[in-house]
Amino acid sequence: MSNCLKNKKILLLKNNCLPEDISDFLQNNGYIIKSIGFEISSINKEYENFSPDIVIICMKSEENLNNVQAVYKELKQMKTPIMFITNNTSETMFKKIKEISSYGFIVKDTDKYVILSIIETFLKIYKSNFKKTRNYNHWQFDEDSPVGILKCDAKGNIIYANKRVLEILGSPSIKETKKINLLNFPLLIKFGLSNKLKYCLENKKSKTFEIKYKSKWGKNLWLRIHIKTNINKNKVLGAQIILDDITDKKLKEERLKHLSNTDFLTNTYNRRYFNKRLEEEIERANITNRKFSLIMLDIDHFKKINDEFGHHAGDLVLKSIAQLIKNRIRKTDILARWGGEEFIILLPETEIKNAAILAEDLRNMINNLKFKDIGNVTVSLGVDNYHSDDTIDSIIKRVDKHLYASKSAGRNCVVTGI
Ligand code: GH3
Ligand code: MG
Ligand code: MG
Repeated sequence: MSNCLKNKKILLLKNNCLPEDISDFLQNNGYIIKSIGFEISSINKEYENFSPDIVIICMKSEENLNNVQAVYKELKQMKTPIMFITNNTSETMFKKIKEISSYGFIVKDTDKYVILSIIETFLKIYKSNFKKTRNYNHWQFDEDSPVGILKCDAKGNIIYANKRVLEILGSPSIKETKKINLLNFPLLIKFGLSNKLKYCLENKKSKTFEIKYKSKWGKNLWLRIHIKTNINKNKVLGAQIILDDITDKKLKEERLKHLSNTDFLTNTYNRRYFNKRLEEEIERANITNRKFSLIMLDIDHFKKINDEFGHHAGDLVLKSIAQLIKNRIRKTDILARWGGEEFIILLPETEIKNAAILAEDLRNMINNLKFKDIGNVTVSLGVDNYHSDDTIDSIIKRVDKHLYASKSAGRNCVVTGI
């Protein structure tokens, strides 16, 4: 007997039709046998305790068929192969067994070696069918998965991609998708996936990461990617890659982040965000040569505008001035609303004399703005730059002092720390 069939367990349901020596013979050939009667309750119990690989039902006549049918129903749910041994070979018996079992029957007086060989064949057929069903089920699971599943060989060639991968990437077909080599495709190299996959394949490692990606077919995405290498006997065969489209989640996060960093009225940064950036800039300036400057700006007699023209008119002035400043500064500069009618600007890599020129320019541009009914509005500005060992407090205190000085000097002017 082949090894895989050794110690297989047979649950024998008998009706005194099987000669004792067959049981002995099967046991001598490596099978473990448990014989029981036909009662459903004992079948259930024995089935669970014994956990057979095959059930053999022995019966004498058609009379038992109803009973057998009930037993078969139970066993079918238990998903174990069932074989019949009978001494009744009538047409009715044949039809009935065919109806309830796909495996058929053996005539009782068949030679014991024939019985043995049929049992073995039976087990082998069942095993391979079972494997096929299981593989099919796995495949179906991958195919219908809500996440994208890609499988590649050790050279980065795609050997499998499920439907979701095509949806996520906007790919027209599996054929087009398979044209991509995960280690060589330029877009994947650019977005860093190829390098990470290479690392996993070379080091037999797994990795999880998130990337912002633009697919070959033009879809802009945020992907959460899990790479798991497929190893057999210490050899890397390839990898399984799971693609999870997290674009919606990321966009929501970005919106929330934007909201938490932004002043709603003027659409500039808020004080909390500004302080964070200023702290980072101070840390950088402490360890590198990258210095920076600050401009603080306060609208003159703003209370009067509110009092004379209403709060709404005041809001419009605030928004217009914020927009004017945004249009004038660089993308890398940080404009924030520091207080009610005060703004602050962080100017990375800017010397104080250039910051002073910008401040004077802003003062002049704002002075030239014409507001309906209100006329023109002026601002006062304080300018200073980073000094070694500055803290947030120390540098803010200096620009605030210059701003206060510009108010004292009659407003609509710039005072600097030069
Ligand atoms: P100064 O030239 O000395 O700066 O005088 P000022 O009137 O501008 O300064 P003050 O601090 O006396 O008044 C600031 C005013 O700004 C008072 C406050 O009601 C107004 N303010 C603060 N936030 C807002 C806002 O969001 N919208 C409007 N319309 N007004 C605001
Ligand atoms: Mg003020
Ligand atoms: Mg003011």
